[in-house]
Amino acid sequence: MPSNKQVTLNNPLDMHIHLRDEEMLENIAKDSTHTLSGAIVMPNLVPPVSSKEDVVAYKQRIIKAIDGENFKPYMTLFFKPTYTREFLESIKDDITAIKLYPAGITTNSEGGVSGFDVEELRDVLEAMAEFNLPLCVHGETNGFVMDREAEFVSIYEKLAEAFPKLKIIMEHITTKASVDALEKFENLYATITVHHLLITLDDVAGGMLQPHLFCKPIAKRPEDREALLKVALNAHPKVMYGSDSAPHPQHAKESCGCAAGVFTAPIALQLLTELFEKNDAPLENLQAFISGNAQNIYGVKPISKKVVLEKTPFKVPSDYNGVVPMYAGEDIAYSIKEVSDE
Ligand SMILES: [Zn+2]
Repeated sequence: MPSNKQVTLNNPLDMHIHLRDEEMLENIAKDSTHTLSGAIVMPNLVPPVSSKEDVVAYKQRIIKAIDGENFKPYMTLFFKPTYTREFLESIKDDITAIKLYPAGITTNSEGGVSGFDVEELRDVLEAMAEFNLPLCVHGETNGFVMDREAEFVSIYEKLAEAFPKLKIIMEHITTKASVDALEKFENLYATITVHHLLITLDDVAGGMLQPHLFCKPIAKRPEDREALLKVALNAHPKVMYGSDSAPHPQHAKESCGCAAGVFTAPIALQLLTELFEKNDAPLENLQAFISGNAQNIYGVKPISKKVVLEKTPFKVPSDYNGVVPMYAGEDIAYSIKEVSDE
């Protein structure tokens, strides 16, 4: 019997992950990081990660929770316009990036930024550029839900123009408008999730409501997904994989006030491998999308990890310690065969 096709991926990096804290961190950390060499860990805890003590302590809690997994957490700070140059200089070696949330847009973003006045932000953003700290942005306005990201593009462009030395990462982009913005400014980059490459709003709400596919930014139109697919499958050098894997307890998703977030981390590489194969994209593009581009953009050198996938159907578990993943209970085409540290 011929053995099934195998695909090897090296040093996978997830440039946008939520590992949460306390019980949830304990519950999902190992499954979320097992196939990753490293990940940019988002700082939206309660209260948000906003001091050196917070960063150091959160990193320790992550290391404890992953329990020996060979994985590097790239720490981030929750952006505040009041950070001083001195403060950033004191913390620059403990963090890899700073995450900006517009106020009140997503999980635990209440303390975020509301105005985007260039002069008010000048000192902190110029210091970030000086210390080579990228600004990661959840780019949505408070407008109509389908238009929030496209409306935010003008803010991205304003910041990119005013701070040409600052690397600005448009996080989890979902629209053609954001893809187009990539080409306009040299210092704009983007992460793309696996779910936004697979689904549109139709999959979320076109039939029976699918709470486990509900996230912010909400999945958009087919032409938006096409634009995202094009840059991801071609491994456009300014885009990186960032899962935005965002676990919530099952009761918080399957309720009359469904929390936003799709939990994909344990199955993301399997889904991406299948997606790239289906679209006849070369394996080297997948490798660039899940690691190489991020290394170039962030200037990080990941720890060694080899992930071997095999084309054998994998039945996605109904839950991971009480968190329901995308495609729970369904078969996906690829399985993880082996993860090693070489
Ligand atoms: Zn996120």
